[in-house]
Amino acid sequence: MSVVHEEVLAANAIYAAEFGDKKNLAMPPARRFAVLTCMDARLDPAKFAGLAEGDAHVIRNAGGRASDDAIRSLVISYKLLGTKEWYVIHHTDCGMETFTNEVMGELLANSLETATITEAGWKDTGKGPGSVAGRFVHWLSISNQAVSVLDDVKRIKAHSLVPASIPVYGYIYDVRSGKLVEVPEATAAGKAS
Ligand SMILES: [Zn+2]
Repeated sequence: MSVVHEEVLAANAIYAAEFGDKKNLAMPPARRFAVLTCMDARLDPAKFAGLAEGDAHVIRNAGGRASDDAIRSLVISYKLLGTKEWYVIHHTDCGMETFTNEVMGELLANSLETATITEAGWKDTGKGPGSVAGRFVHWLSISNQAVSVLDDVKRIKAHSLVPASIPVYGYIYDVRSGKLVEVPEATAAGKAS
């Protein structure tokens, strides 16, 4: 077993030993909201948004993008579990700003090993073979955070399965300060009606 694997199981044993009243939590989020944000390891929505177990849905993917699968989760979040307001939170210094579909396709075509970022951009130094399958994926990379937040709020609001009554707020989390900075155009586009 890897060191990380052992650490995860040890941490879980401590957590479960102190689980207490959390066994009585209801399935629907008590505070009736959902957050869509990036998987970046520096972001901890429970901490930056003050969540306890049972409070809210947190949907995470690379970039916090409103992908089809993120929308699937959001629809389940309100339709079956009663959330009433949603937050789209992208962040500064996101890895999704460092590449394009073309770059990712090229890296994966070269090899399936971890690439390295250099001053000149991503370099693949792995041993092949890679796979051209990467060229058929839309990676939803980001060139401007305010634009990506606005695009995602608009996409969610325009979806035929999303009721107009749900407000969607747009924010950028600053990884240098821990602050949430609103994208006003996104929140305006996401207002409930
Ligand atoms: Zn990110």
